[in-house]
Amino acid sequence: MPDLLKVAKFGGTSMADLDAMKRCARIVTSDPDKKVIVVSATSGTTNLLSSLFDHVETDQKMEIVDKIRKKHLEICTGLVHSTEVEKAILQVMDSLVALVQNQHMMTPRIQDEILSHGELLSSAIFTGLLKEYDTGEVDTRWLDARKIITTDRSHTKAQPDISAIAGNAEDQLIPHLESVRFVTQGFIGSSPDGTTTTLGRGGSDYSAALFAEAIHADVLEIWTDVTAVYTTDPRVVPAARPITEISFDEAAELSVFGAKVLHPATMVPAVRKNIKVYVGSSMKPQKPGTWIMKDTRSKPVIRAISLRRNQTLVTVKSPDMLHRHGFLAKLFDVLSRHQVSVDLVTTSEVSVSLTVDTDIQSTERDSLNEDVLSELRTFSQVDVEKDLSLVALIGNNLHATSGLSGPVFGLLEDVNVRLICHGASSHNLCFLVSQTSAEKVVQVLHNRFIK
Ligand code: ADP
Ligand code: ASP
Ligand code: MG
Repeated sequence: MPDLLKVAKFGGTSMADLDAMKRCARIVTSDPDKKVIVVSATSGTTNLLSSLFDHVETDQKMEIVDKIRKKHLEICTGLVHSTEVEKAILQVMDSLVALVQNQHMMTPRIQDEILSHGELLSSAIFTGLLKEYDTGEVDTRWLDARKIITTDRSHTKAQPDISAIAGNAEDQLIPHLESVRFVTQGFIGSSPDGTTTTLGRGGSDYSAALFAEAIHADVLEIWTDVTAVYTTDPRVVPAARPITEISFDEAAELSVFGAKVLHPATMVPAVRKNIKVYVGSSMKPQKPGTWIMKDTRSKPVIRAISLRRNQTLVTVKSPDMLHRHGFLAKLFDVLSRHQVSVDLVTTSEVSVSLTVDTDIQSTERDSLNEDVLSELRTFSQVDVEKDLSLVALIGNNLHATSGLSGPVFGLLEDVNVRLICHGASSHNLCFLVSQTSAEKVVQVLHNRFIK
């Protein structure tokens, strides 16, 4: 068994083309401790696959399928032993064609089946490429992630079954880790009845963390298109700085509050099993990345700022709330029955405000649809406000730091701040602003508070 056991995950831009894949292959083969390699679909492919959902009844579906086939076959042409990989690609494409032909009902189950093809394609190519780099000491094997990542049946946002996954890894992975390097897919799993599920968009980070937990890895590496976790999204604030070390708690909050660099659930298995997480760039692997660990030497009050777009604010008012019990239970019962996931909540004597993610792709799929709203309206007045963003300051001891909110909100005098949550967590202070002012707010706060 290697001294350290590592799981390495490569995201979509890291798998973008043959050159990008070669950079990743060098990262993998330079370190014999990396035993499970988890890959995302090549960049843009999951979006292309999801565009098929709206075209099942039009001729355009075959154009999309052809585009995906061409893109992957093109990458294969650069491989030394391309024929075998091309054969695998054509097989995956045939299964996609069979799936979309004569498909009229786009159920969540079919959607997951379609989306899984992106990771099946990229992992087939990356396995072929890694085999070219191997010297004979390791046996690189393609692994179907669905044999390990058992989930429930909630298609498009499936919940993993941790003990089933541990059992699968115990039987199928751990006995082989001495001599085998597995290459597998992020994002996908399978339900107990064997149908393909997905963990939600961006879910490959979470898959990798689940693999790391299941094989008792020491380190989880997330290789992406930025050199590290930054003090805020470098696309929003180009002056953002890379963070050398950050705690599990802070990283978890950062990802939950919108930092796309990590899927929000990634930290859950890492925290459970105390697995150190490294975030680095597959394009510039020599640049120092970020270590995410249980405890850090420095504990700044404000370490980073995150931005979560597309928020809906729902305000539920009723005079019945005043001095009566049971109102909140009734409200949350409705939300729970309709599977609405609530993020922030504030209450006054006669009203409750809460935030939920807006589904920007489809108003029908929005968890806060008309059914929920009309049920809430049977016992309260309901106001819905969209086009909002959540800004969160992330750090340490924010709940107990006096004199913080004055300077923060003093800077935002001209901004309409809709809801503030301060004190519930020691690691964040967050508030809602309009989508149009959100980036400016992050820039102003970063400029003032991140040294
Ligand atoms: P991958 O395809 O490798 O999973 P993602 O696009 O999902 O990569 O995540 C990387 C992106 O996350 C970066 O390009 C960056 O724009 C964004 N991002 C948001 N917040 C942060 C942050 N605090 N630090 C680094 N990147 C961030
Ligand atoms: N390919 C999936 C997506 O684009 C999963 C991932 O990349 O993490 O959402
Ligand atoms: Mg990602």
